[in-house]
Amino acid sequence: MTDNAPDYAFAPAPVVSLPIEGHAERFPVRRIYCVGRNYAAHAVEMGHDPDKEPPFFFQKPADTIVQPGADFPYPAQSSDVHFEMEHVVAIGTGGADIPVETALDHVFGYAAGLDMTRRDLQGAAKKMGRPWEVGKAFESSAPMSAIRTVADIGHPARGAVRLWVNGEMRQDGDLDQLIWKTQEVIAHLSALFTLAPGDLIMTGTPAGVGPVARGDEMVGEVEGIGRVELRVV
Ligand code: MN
Repeated sequence: MTDNAPDYAFAPAPVVSLPIEGHAERFPVRRIYCVGRNYAAHAVEMGHDPDKEPPFFFQKPADTIVQPGADFPYPAQSSDVHFEMEHVVAIGTGGADIPVETALDHVFGYAAGLDMTRRDLQGAAKKMGRPWEVGKAFESSAPMSAIRTVADIGHPARGAVRLWVNGEMRQDGDLDQLIWKTQEVIAHLSALFTLAPGDLIMTGTPAGVGPVARGDEMVGEVEGIGRVELRVV
């Protein structure tokens, strides 16, 4: 306790963090940004034009993270919960209006994550022109792997992005299919929001998204980066 610690009315929420593979320290998470429709084949399967339009973003709160090894609790108020396996960028140095040329210097590391989605609620929100939070930002909607540091693995530009449900492969994309690459995503996002250390960016999902049910086993990977394994409970 320091002398100038504020006197809170109740205990503040704990800092959300992720393990860093091979290191004792953890990565403290600030915000989670997500990119919509960043693989052409997924844009088409969702009924959109695959042409390169500017990337768009939404957020999940940091406390929606599911820690590596934990289960995914099937959420309330939905009967159509989808997996979206994604490559995740972990920001180590913040900034606004970051140029593409130096954007990768801001990356601390990478992870594999799931952008779990209440598709029925998201679809209803889209139809009514309402925000996506009820479809995207619910409890436990962001299962993550441990983070791999840039110092350890560099900046992978290719590698399979895959997801299996009960042993059957459902998504099979590759980082080299990203419409907007990591450095371009950082440049666009930092023109809209001031990035800070601890921010995570989920970069979009390849084609093949679909529903899960209680009892299903989801296994996902971004090749060379990380792996998630969860049971839907
Ligand atoms: Mn997504």
